[in-house]
Amino acid sequence: MSTAIADFGLIGLAVMGQNLILNTADHGFTVCAYNRTYSKVEHFLANEAKGKSIVGAKSIEEFVSKLKRPRKIMLLVKAGNPVDALISELITHLEKGDIVIDGGNSHFPDSNRRFEELKANGILFVGCGVSGGEEGARYGPSLMPGGADEAWPHIKDLLQSIAAKSDGEPCCDWVGPAGSGHYVKMVHNGIEYGDMQLISEAYDIMKRVGGFTDKEISDVFAKWNKGVLDSFLIEITRDILKYDDVDGKPLVEKILDSAGQKGTGKWTAMNALDLGMPVTLIGEAVFARCLSSIKDERIRASKVLPGPKIPKDAIKDRQEFIDDLEEALYASKIISYAQGFMLIREAGKTYGWKLNNPAIALMWRGGCIIRSVFLAEITKAFREKPDLENLLLDKFFLHAVTKAQLGWRKTVALATTYGIPTPTFSTALAFYDGYRSERLPANLLQAQRDFFGAHTFRVLPECASDNLPEDKDI
Ligand code: NAP
Repeated sequence: MSTAIADFGLIGLAVMGQNLILNTADHGFTVCAYNRTYSKVEHFLANEAKGKSIVGAKSIEEFVSKLKRPRKIMLLVKAGNPVDALISELITHLEKGDIVIDGGNSHFPDSNRRFEELKANGILFVGCGVSGGEEGARYGPSLMPGGADEAWPHIKDLLQSIAAKSDGEPCCDWVGPAGSGHYVKMVHNGIEYGDMQLISEAYDIMKRVGGFTDKEISDVFAKWNKGVLDSFLIEITRDILKYDDVDGKPLVEKILDSAGQKGTGKWTAMNALDLGMPVTLIGEAVFARCLSSIKDERIRASKVLPGPKIPKDAIKDRQEFIDDLEEALYASKIISYAQGFMLIREAGKTYGWKLNNPAIALMWRGGCIIRSVFLAEITKAFREKPDLENLLLDKFFLHAVTKAQLGWRKTVALATTYGIPTPTFSTALAFYDGYRSERLPANLLQAQRDFFGAHTFRVLPECASDNLPEDKDI
């Protein structure tokens, strides 16, 4: 009798792996679990997995033997060397047509490389972005798979069954070739950095310029969460701000203002620089975390560097102030997503990937940290026009940004006047004004480059006859 009883194999029994196995078993699949440290498998089988269609394996060999062909194996282990180590161990036991899915937070160049290496051995590699943390893994994550196209028909049903649903549609679809699934997950994480920084700046303005208490700010977020900003991050911010410590004081005010980072925001910003795309908001969000982390230096500087005083009556009309701030947050968020999709489009061109834009927005609609009502409009925009040049040119977003513009400008001006740093609000507005400018001062910049470095310049077509060649090369 064949021992190949499992529909799916999962390696890595930390928080993500365990929850994804339970989710998969709940959807009618038999799962085989393996972990480097076997005691975790034993513990899992005897506790969380008890009574479910979950089996375990002591060795990679046993694990592989328990899987139905073509074998579908997901790795949910620490990104980096552990993934390579497990792949080289697996490869000796797998057969042509078997599928290896890396569900960890791997950097997309690693996934490109693994895709090629496994292809050379006849194994189908899929790099699958998984978002939504522990809760998402258990009850429905956002899944962004990309890699060997031939793998998709074999894993589609399983991945779409366990993924989050938004208006009945699974937040999982095929992204594209090679490392594109992990690429899209990387941009998702970059956008998450941007969204979090924007929300934090809104809180700072309300607190420092408006003099709002944390409870009042929580109420503002609660109201915003019923409108165009309705999203997971606004919802949790509402709850964080009303959470008190045992002494009755807001816990958030006791947290050290020094932000950490794991690197995916930085990867996105670095890739934007590599591809020459102005993804300024994510870049500023990463730098804002860097600035926050030099706390000791900031404390010293705060005692020396002067700035404007904020008068008690800085805000004349509270409702108008809040409405303007909501518009600033909404417009800046639109810019961030527009920039994110510009980057994805450029990646498609540069890496030769045919990417599924409407599906990307759909995958982010549920299950993940950046899930929001607003993503439905992005899905709609790309479904209507898959080759949309820029989100800002879609009629819905054009109207939204136009409507929000005055409040956005007033908010940035107010923050600047009173010395409140708003790197993401400000860069979003600067990008908007740059993007809508037919003429930028880069003519002077090119002249300077040419003056000191003979870098040459091109002339405007209408000036080509003014004794200047259209392409000057001196
Ligand atoms: P993790 O802490 O990133 O990794 C722990 C797992 O990796 C354990 O199963 C561990 O096995 C295994 N491992 C480590 N080094 C290994 C090696 N050299 N060989 C074989 N196995 C090795 O676990 P996690 O938080 O559940 O995350 C899993 C993946 O999902 C990561 O890539 C993470 O970035 C990504 N992710 C995490 C979240 C989240 O919210 N946590 C969200 C999305 C994506 P042992 O038990 O033997 O040590």
